[in-house]
Amino acid sequence: MSVDQSGVQGGAAPDQGGSTPGNGGRSFWCEHALLPDGPAAGVRVVLGEDGRISAVERAEARTGDEILHGVTLPGFANTHSHAFHRALRGRTHDAGGTFWTWRERMYHVAARLDPENYLALARAAYAEMALAGVTAVGEFHYVHHQVGGVPYEDPNEMGRALQQAAAEAGVALTLLDTAYLHGGLDETGHTALSPEQARFGDADIDAWAQRAGGLRAEGTFRVGAALHSVRAVPLAQLREAAALVPAVCDTGSTIAPLHVHVSEQPAENRAALARYGLTPVGLLAEAGLVGPDLTAVHATHLTEEDVRLLGAARSWVSLCPTTERDLADGIGPARALHDAGVRLSLGSDQHAVVDLVEEARAVEMHERLTTHERGRFTPQDLLALATGHESLGREGAGRIAPGARGDLVTIRLDSVRTAGADPAQVLLAASAADVTTVIRDGETIVSDGRHRLGDVGALLRDAIAPFWEDA
Ligand SMILES: [Zn+2]
Repeated sequence: MSVDQSGVQGGAAPDQGGSTPGNGGRSFWCEHALLPDGPAAGVRVVLGEDGRISAVERAEARTGDEILHGVTLPGFANTHSHAFHRALRGRTHDAGGTFWTWRERMYHVAARLDPENYLALARAAYAEMALAGVTAVGEFHYVHHQVGGVPYEDPNEMGRALQQAAAEAGVALTLLDTAYLHGGLDETGHTALSPEQARFGDADIDAWAQRAGGLRAEGTFRVGAALHSVRAVPLAQLREAAALVPAVCDTGSTIAPLHVHVSEQPAENRAALARYGLTPVGLLAEAGLVGPDLTAVHATHLTEEDVRLLGAARSWVSLCPTTERDLADGIGPARALHDAGVRLSLGSDQHAVVDLVEEARAVEMHERLTTHERGRFTPQDLLALATGHESLGREGAGRIAPGARGDLVTIRLDSVRTAGADPAQVLLAASAADVTTVIRDGETIVSDGRHRLGDVGALLRDAIAPFWEDA
């Protein structure tokens, strides 16, 4: 088969369609597609003017269809991101490469962020995500204020920089505006913010809600809520947050997303047990925060009761396996959570790797290592993990079906990684480098494996270099 880099095949296509500007009113013919009822060959997907899918049919290509060679999947949701951590990639493995090396470098970058350089860094990081098939990202955002903690003239200036960055990169953003009130937790209680953390903090939970409530949905931008962790928010303020979160959130849906880092490392469990006699999940439950709109991020070190609580509430867990292995956190109980009724999603978190295919595959591979069993998650299960849009309050995404958002990701089947693979098992073979086409809400963001902003490697290089000039 003669297929160029774009995955657009010459010859057989009746009409390659070209690139139609604007949203909707487009039709595609997918060589293969992963549909809700399984893989299919020869699928037409028609989009309406609203950028939603109006029809899906198994049929021959028609004149005017844009041809998508390879296998087309619903767009991926990256449910846990700290955009500025992208500047840390490949810079934390010397000097012992410990957790402390990582944290020192993280504070180095955090101290140098301003609205202008954060816009450039986040735009490049989100463009990298788009190249990996991500159509929506949840940004766990806590760098709110100037160094030292003084608010910007617009107290949401940093959040608005992220909003602009995502819009320019073509990725739908749910800004998970984060309450970060204390520096840490030990058996005696919560400690004050350190000087490095001062710009993350708001005076108290009401001040957080008031500031974050100033952000409202616009275009593909959505507002959700986050509490950094039980280390950063004491129980009394977790309780207050339960009443404040719905007013902070603005998703255009009935979902009011609340994301919290939970039990990433055993030390957090020990501190919470020593101070309160409860695990972090137990504390969230005590505060009335465990429900279907909760996403527990990481959830690596859980008790059986924690798993039961999250499952009974149909909560989400955002697994971030490439980060969890990079930071030596451990391997979370993914299958036990799934079996208990928890909905699982994936995040690239610190962006040591930006590849949702790799994140999905890692969940299954890490299960294999801990259980000595294969097939803990089916390829269809892994696709569900990679498309957890609802944990971001983004309804109607994550499936190729009439009425769903026109979010399509095409993965080529002729690369050295994917050649010969069964399209149904592509997530066990491909990498982000195999993504050729990304369409979000009917709008083409990536075609021929190229982002509409151009050379994303150069954007990343230019955005990251200034952070290390004085290192
Ligand atoms: Zn995180």
